[in-house]
Amino acid sequence: MEIIIQKFGGTSLRTPEERKKAVQIVTATRNTGYSVVVVVSAIGRSGDPYATDTLLEMFAEGSKTGGRGASPRETDLLLSCGEIISATLFAGLLQASGLSAQALTGAQAGIITDDNFGNAHIIRIVPDRVLQALEQGQVVVVAGFQGRTDSGEITTLGRGGSDTTAVALGAALKAKRVEIFTDVSGIMTADPRISREAKLLKRVTYQEVVELAHLGAKVIHPRAVELAMAAGLELWIKGFNDDSEGTLVAGSPERGVEIHGDKVITGIAHISGVAQVRVNLNPETPAPRQHVEIFSIMARHDISVDIINVFPDLVVFTVQEKDLETADTALREAGYSPESRGGFAKVSAVGAGMRGVPGVMARIAKALTEAGVEIFQSVDSHANISCLVREDQLEAAIRALHKEFALAGD
Ligand code: ASP
Ligand code: MG
Repeated sequence: MEIIIQKFGGTSLRTPEERKKAVQIVTATRNTGYSVVVVVSAIGRSGDPYATDTLLEMFAEGSKTGGRGASPRETDLLLSCGEIISATLFAGLLQASGLSAQALTGAQAGIITDDNFGNAHIIRIVPDRVLQALEQGQVVVVAGFQGRTDSGEITTLGRGGSDTTAVALGAALKAKRVEIFTDVSGIMTADPRISREAKLLKRVTYQEVVELAHLGAKVIHPRAVELAMAAGLELWIKGFNDDSEGTLVAGSPERGVEIHGDKVITGIAHISGVAQVRVNLNPETPAPRQHVEIFSIMARHDISVDIINVFPDLVVFTVQEKDLETADTALREAGYSPESRGGFAKVSAVGAGMRGVPGVMARIAKALTEAGVEIFQSVDSHANISCLVREDQLEAAIRALHKEFALAGD
């Protein structure tokens, strides 16, 4: 029995026509002799009746009236319903089209998680029930984004968690491949909504997709790619609305993915809504003590810091714009005079091929400068270089980098 996992996101199941198309995709795969496990997200986006954001907004009612909001346990129980509705609806449509199918909740599918409500991690999968149904020739439709703890509490896996469900099931069931259907054609060289020259990548390494996803590309959840990498799973990202083959996410260059010629950059990712905090240190107080204090204050307020530069007389870092006021106030209360500014975006050039290659930053700096884009901060790792730029120059920055590294082809 060869198993294929097919995951459909919430925006691919929104209308009867889209659901019909998804049924056709599953049927075609089933007809070629594969066993199919379908994983679904909650239908639609904010405003649609059972979308995750809509369900979350229902609970916001409690906090608006002065309450503390619903507990994480109840929130997860409610959120899990969105995917259960999708799964039952979709299994019903498969049945109506003549396929034998059954819907399972994450818990019924044997997805066991820790009890970190709202962002639970899968600790094990007991796939017996899914396997049994597959052996009987059924298509199994699993509600994504959820599981249960050992004691039977329902949990959710964090936003975008249905991708993780699909890949984790793929690993547990030793699937031939996992196919994630989404509203773009696959992994692109940049966000196609911003860069018209963005091109589909046919093959990318797991590591590059993990980097792109962490750095803001919204095509797939990074945790799902990490899992696929650990399991060596064949992972495909496919456009739901087009017939292109999509992107194959596969092994590292050492394991056979060629890097063409001087291709040091594979794609550009970005994150909007970034703010920068600069804190000049007090010369009267030892710098190390201030370094510790500044970041401890951020930690205490649960503020995640990014692009961090620490100097003997200065600390510069970025936070999400939504956290800027809290960060600024907390630092002032501790006696600092931060310069806090919103309106930034982080643009990142990603490529496994840049490792140890000299001159990549020189090309980035030159390309951005020639396009009139100012760099406010920068950080790098072995496979990416990120620059902080003004949000209103983001488009120009992406265009300049896309051109410099010939991502649209020659
Ligand atoms: N419905 C969940 C969310 O919106 C999970 C998912 O779509 O993957 O985050
Ligand atoms: Mg998603």
